[in-house]
Amino acid sequence: MKSDLDALIIGAGFAGLGMAIRLLQAGVTRLAILEQASEIGGTWRDNTYPGCACDIPSHLYSWSFEPNPEWTRMYPTQPEIQAYLLRAIEHRGLRPLIRLNCQVRDAVWDEAARQWRVATASGETFTAHILVAGMGGLSRPAYPDIPGATSFAGPAFHSARWDHSLNLAGKRVAVIGTGASAIQFVPQIAPHVERLTLYQRTPPWILPKRDPALGPFWRGLFRRLPAVMRLFRAALYWRQEALAPAFTLSPALMAPAARMARAHLAAAVADPELRRKLTPTYRMGCKRILLSNDYYPALARPNVELITAPIDRITPSGVVTADGGERPADALIYGTGFRATDLLTPLRIIGRGGVDLNDAWRGGLEAYHGVTVTGFPNLFILVGPNTGLGHNSIVFIIEAQIHYVLECLRLMELRGVRAIDVKPAAQRRYNLDIQQRLRRTVWASGCKSWYLDARGANTTLWPGSTISYWAQTREPAAADYSLLR
Ligand code: NAP
Repeated sequence: MKSDLDALIIGAGFAGLGMAIRLLQAGVTRLAILEQASEIGGTWRDNTYPGCACDIPSHLYSWSFEPNPEWTRMYPTQPEIQAYLLRAIEHRGLRPLIRLNCQVRDAVWDEAARQWRVATASGETFTAHILVAGMGGLSRPAYPDIPGATSFAGPAFHSARWDHSLNLAGKRVAVIGTGASAIQFVPQIAPHVERLTLYQRTPPWILPKRDPALGPFWRGLFRRLPAVMRLFRAALYWRQEALAPAFTLSPALMAPAARMARAHLAAAVADPELRRKLTPTYRMGCKRILLSNDYYPALARPNVELITAPIDRITPSGVVTADGGERPADALIYGTGFRATDLLTPLRIIGRGGVDLNDAWRGGLEAYHGVTVTGFPNLFILVGPNTGLGHNSIVFIIEAQIHYVLECLRLMELRGVRAIDVKPAAQRRYNLDIQQRLRRTVWASGCKSWYLDARGANTTLWPGSTISYWAQTREPAAADYSLLR
C-alpha cells in the first residue's frame, strides 16, 4: 500500500530539520515535519534565559551543508542560533512541510502495509514509509522533587521556560542548580536582583571561555572565500576532537585542564571559604565541563550568597535547608536540567507485535548505532541512546546519523524491500560493546550525573571519538538487519 508520505519527521530542531534538508536533496519530497511547539528551533527555541549560549564554537555548531559566514562570535548566543535555523528553513523552502502546534500522540507500525500510522493529539492521522524521531534528549525540563515545592507563593519557573514577563529587579531570587544553564543566567541577573541565593548541590568544573568576536574582517573573509571558512571549521573540529582521549581513554589526561580550572577559580574568588565551596571534588569531565568568565565574579558579589547545605523543603515564602537555615525568596528559578534518560516517554511508539517502545526500554535505553531499535522497523532515532558527547559538536553526530538514515533507505531500494528491522543479536552485541567501553571513560569515575539512568547505566553518551562514530555510520551492515518485503 502506498503511504501518504515517504518520511514523517517528529521534531523541528537541529536533528529533524537537518534530516528534512538532506531528504529533499536526496529527492525524497513527500515528507512532513510535525512540531508540537508554535515555532521551530527545539532547544534553541525553548531556552531563552538571559545569557543563553552554546559552549561549542559557532562554525562547528551548524550544519556543514548550511554554512554561515555571518556568525558574530566564536561561541554563538541563543538568538543567533535560532536566527540561523529560521534562515535555513526559509533558504531551503522547508516552511510548507512543517506542521506547527502538532503534537504526535502515537505512532503504530502496520506490519501488513509496512508503514507507520501516526496520530496527532488533534485527531489527524498520517501514514509514512519511514518515521524519524528528532525530539532531542534535552527537551523536557526536570523539576526536582523537593517537599513543599508547589506551596511556593511567588513565581517559580524552569530556566528552559523562562518567564520574561517577570521583572526580577529588586526581588529576592532563589536559584536551584549550578549546571550549564545556571552558570549562564546567574551572572546576567545578579546585578539586577536585590538578593540572589544560589543553592548548589555539586560544584561544576569551569574553564575560561575564550569567546572573541568574529568581526567584519572574518565575516567578509568567510563570505568571499568559503574554502577558508571550511578550513576554519575543520580546525575547530580537530581542536575539539583532540579532547576525546581525556574523556574516553585515560581520564588522567584531564590533569592539565583541572589545573587550569583551579587557577581560574583562584584568580576570580579571593575568599578562601567561598573558593572551598566552589572547588569540585569529583574527577573533571565526569559531569559536563563548563565554560564561563563571569560566573565566579558574580558569586563574589555582595548581593549573592552560595548555599551548599542540602535543601530540606520549600515553603510559601522561601527555601529551608537541612541545617535549619531559612531564606526568604520572592521568586524561584529552577536551573535543574532535563529528563535526558526518558528519551521518548511522552510518545507512544508501537512496533511489531504491539510492543510499546517504552516497554522495550523499561530495562534501559538501547539502540543499534543509537539509531535503529529491534522490533521497530523503519523507525530512525536521531540523537538516540549513547550518541551524546562530552567533547565535540552534537551537530556532527546528527549529520552522521542523517547520512546513515539515507543509506538505510538506499539499502531498502537496492534490495527491493519495504522495511528493515535490526536483528536483536546485532543490537545486543553493539550495546554490550558500548557498555564495556564506557567503563574506562571519565563518566564512570564515580560522580552522579544526568548521563546515568536510575540503574546507574550510561545510556546517553558515546564512548569514543566522533570520527569512530562517523566511520561506523557510513553504511548499514545488511547482515545485521532483517529485510522485510
Ligand atoms: P544540568 O547540567 O543537569 O544541571 C542541573 C543542576 O541542578 C545541577 O547543578 C544539579 O546538581 C542541580 N540539581 C538538580 N536537581 C537538584 C535538586 N533536587 N536539588 C539541588 N540541586 C539540584 O542542567 P542544565 O544546566 O540545564 O544543563 C543540561 C545540559 O544542557 C548540559 O549538560 C548541556 O549538555 C546542555 N546545556 C548546554 C549549554 C551550552 O552552553 N551548550 C548550556 C546549557 C545547557 P547536581 O550536579 O548535584 O546533580
